[in-house]
Amino acid sequence: MIDHSTIERIFDAAQITEVVQEFVSLKKRGVNYLGLCPFHNEKTPSFTVSPAKGIFKCFGCGKGGNSVNFIMEHEHLSYPEALKWLAKKYHIEFEEKEASAEEIQKQNERESILVVTQYATREFTENLFNGREGIALGMSYFRERGFRDAVLHKFEVGYCNEKRDDFTQKALGAGYKKEYLVQSGLTIDKENYVFDRFAGRIMFPIHSLSGQVLGFGGRIIKKDPHAAKYVNTPETEIYHKSRIVYGIFQARQAILHADRCYLVEGYTDVLSMHEAGIENVVASSGTALTQEQIRLIKRFTPNITMLYDGDFAGVKASLRGTDMVLEEGMNVRIVLLPDGEDPDSYSKKISNEEFSKYLTDNETDFIKFKTSILLKEAKSDPVTRANLVRDIVHSIAVIPDQISRTIYIKECSSQLNMPEEVILDEVMKLRKQQSFRDRNAFPVQESVVPSWQPVKEEKKKPFTTFYSEREIIRLLVRYGGEIIERVADKESGIETVTTVADYIVAQITDDELDFDEPVFSSMFSEIKFHNQQGLAPNDRQFINHPDPAISSITVDLLTEKYQLSTIWKEKGTWVETEDMKLKIIVTDTVLKFKGDKIKTMQRDLQKAILEAADNQELTEQLLEKYKMMTTLQKEISTRLGDRIVL
Ligand SMILES: [Zn+2]
Repeated sequence: MIDHSTIERIFDAAQITEVVQEFVSLKKRGVNYLGLCPFHNEKTPSFTVSPAKGIFKCFGCGKGGNSVNFIMEHEHLSYPEALKWLAKKYHIEFEEKEASAEEIQKQNERESILVVTQYATREFTENLFNGREGIALGMSYFRERGFRDAVLHKFEVGYCNEKRDDFTQKALGAGYKKEYLVQSGLTIDKENYVFDRFAGRIMFPIHSLSGQVLGFGGRIIKKDPHAAKYVNTPETEIYHKSRIVYGIFQARQAILHADRCYLVEGYTDVLSMHEAGIENVVASSGTALTQEQIRLIKRFTPNITMLYDGDFAGVKASLRGTDMVLEEGMNVRIVLLPDGEDPDSYSKKISNEEFSKYLTDNETDFIKFKTSILLKEAKSDPVTRANLVRDIVHSIAVIPDQISRTIYIKECSSQLNMPEEVILDEVMKLRKQQSFRDRNAFPVQESVVPSWQPVKEEKKKPFTTFYSEREIIRLLVRYGGEIIERVADKESGIETVTTVADYIVAQITDDELDFDEPVFSSMFSEIKFHNQQGLAPNDRQFINHPDPAISSITVDLLTEKYQLSTIWKEKGTWVETEDMKLKIIVTDTVLKFKGDKIKTMQRDLQKAILEAADNQELTEQLLEKYKMMTTLQKEISTRLGDRIVL
């Protein structure tokens, strides 16, 4: 762990423009700098750097943050890794702070397992390339399939000897502890008899983004009806199947470069594609993608192309679960390989050029593909056809981007020969359903929506206090230190000033209200803590916050296009001075926040009343409370008047 004062020194040294300029060419525009965003493809620059605030923000893709966030995002590093990267650049020597005993133990455990997997990778490649058994069994498997050494080395494939405890005994002999061999998943410990999980298998190491081996996939070579064809490392301290995709380490540069990621099923499919010169490819290892895996790919590109073999039943099965990729806002395309072929077999039948060309020529948009394949199946059966429509409508409805949805609705209407309005209607119906929205919530994306703009639209959404909480925090971060009231004591003449932070903190603390959103809740307690010590909140404290959730939301809050003046211009002309505006906005926002909190409390009460139906006394108490809140709610509405739509 890096100690706090070093982190501060790093932040102080790391000038945002300087850091960004290592990777992006910037031009000065007024007080800011402008360049082409390194995180998405663009022709006109929308990537802005503010040296004054020490932040970057892309108005194209929404990415933003401080200099550490930039390095994290650009170099795909973790927070401490990015700090170390910057420390090196600015020649800052740092001491690592002493971690707690528990942290050290966890850290040691992870590191010890990593050391074991690294050792195992070396052993397995040694077996494959130089061991008698490995050459006879493992290497001949790869040779028969035409793999060259270069690709095998690139993926560090290996072989685990057949003798049941060969690897484990060797590792123990080399001084590796049994404890970590077992924790790495390589060794199985059964009543003190230890043996290899992967005996007699070809080994495919699964690399992290930075190239460390987290786990393995092992494919059996000999025909054995009792053994599974593939065995994988179980969940360990370092290997979490749902968070990693096979091949991402070897593919990351190529994915960035091509702005596209191919998704295949198996380890050998990935290797074959590399063999055919296509390197932007990862494998899901046979299961449907998880949200974490999709987001991992999305860090490099929003475009994903899935390769399926031509077997109809297989394709239909794999269509399920693909909606999740759409939900993440990815552009999904499909390539169907000829019947019975997988990427491995097909890429070997034809030349590399032909294979590349096949992929480009046969790419279809996912929704179009799904429609046509289901349409083929449905033919004229009305029941199947109805199901088909429902299925496709669902796929369209999960897409977060409204423009994309509209385009798909148009296309499907012509493909299905059905009026656009009917499909649109179905999509809207689905999106309105509470259960649908719970399942398909996009809290992160929606948080980018400015809170004052969509007031009218918001009424349709399920009720949440998210927006009013966000607005409170926005005011605190942006204007916390501004004075909204000065009162002079008539006799002494001493002036008392109230800042935005003073007012909001007091209002919320006195009513014992809290924030539902964890990130806002922790920001508020920090502000409150500072306020009680007489300090005004400052945006730098949050921009450079070690919690990335806090720093990123702060950048969003600070870079919103909505300024006080523009909001208020539309609302009327009765406010004259900036100070007065601020005061009204702050008091109104606090009122709206309270109103929203009451609304959620009332919702909870409604539930309680229903549940207490048998208990008359309790019911009456609850009803009383409910009515009191309704009165409060009315008061708030009156005070807010027509300035804000509640
Ligand atoms: Zn961008």
